[in-house]
Amino acid sequence: MKLCRFDHDHLGLVLGEHLVEVTDLFDRTPPWPAAPGDWIVRQAVEMGAELAVRAAGSPKTPLGDVRLESPVASPGKIIGAPINYRAHIEEAHADQGIGFGRSFADLKEHGLFLKASSALIGPSEEVRLRFPERRSDHEVELVAVIGREASQVSRERALDHVFGYAIGLDMTVRGPEWPVFRKSADTYAVLGPWIVTADEIPDPNGLDLSLRVNGELRQSANTRQLIYDVQALIEYASSFYTLHPGDLIYTGTPEGVSQVRPGDVMDCEIGAIGRMHVGVAKAWFSQAPAADGGVAARPLKTARSY
Ligand code: MN
Repeated sequence: MKLCRFDHDHLGLVLGEHLVEVTDLFDRTPPWPAAPGDWIVRQAVEMGAELAVRAAGSPKTPLGDVRLESPVASPGKIIGAPINYRAHIEEAHADQGIGFGRSFADLKEHGLFLKASSALIGPSEEVRLRFPERRSDHEVELVAVIGREASQVSRERALDHVFGYAIGLDMTVRGPEWPVFRKSADTYAVLGPWIVTADEIPDPNGLDLSLRVNGELRQSANTRQLIYDVQALIEYASSFYTLHPGDLIYTGTPEGVSQVRPGDVMDCEIGAIGRMHVGVAKAWFSQAPAADGGVAARPLKTARSY
């Protein structure tokens, strides 16, 4: 199954070039107090394949007619893996515009970082760059979406806790500050175009991933080059904290990171997931936003259409 969110919190299953709406199959009233994690992912995991069965026969809408939002609405945690591809470590050492004097040898010397969930947007919104005088880079990454609580899970059981996979952009302001801060600006976490459930991707550690900027290839690699693969990251993350449904693990970016500028278009692709095009807004974040706070800056959850 491919589960997407579109047009202000509608939910759909993607079938080729169309989607069928499944919003009405979900309970929209969370229990009180709300359990940790994402309420939609929690229900999708419980429904499992029944979701597709119950959606069969529903009217189809062309994908091109909708605006795709982040397929996870409210992740409790957005977890990032730094320096998880060898060639990216080498480029970070060679280019101090990336490395800022830090030395990188092994992910576990630094641990994982968290991105603020307020940074999250979907592919139909735009990344809105901050700070014209500073470098903001693209980082395309495979993202694992947690489906079931995970605490101290073993490598062997790690994938049992995954709901599915999506494409992520871990947008990054380069500089000396902690990654948790530089990578948390509004719109600097992109997720999309949908979640492909884990049953369709039995091995997440063998997927081609690439990113083009304005049609020019910048990043091209395969997730088999991950130093800590998806199972290792879940084992490691869950040794420190409990993972909840909807938590996102950005698994790290390969070499080829580079600066994006206002008006650029990023075209991301991961085998078995699909493609997503993400625009970079023409206006800087500091420039006067629209009266509603700007499309990219508007919290998605305030814009329900039902
Ligand atoms: Mn990254």
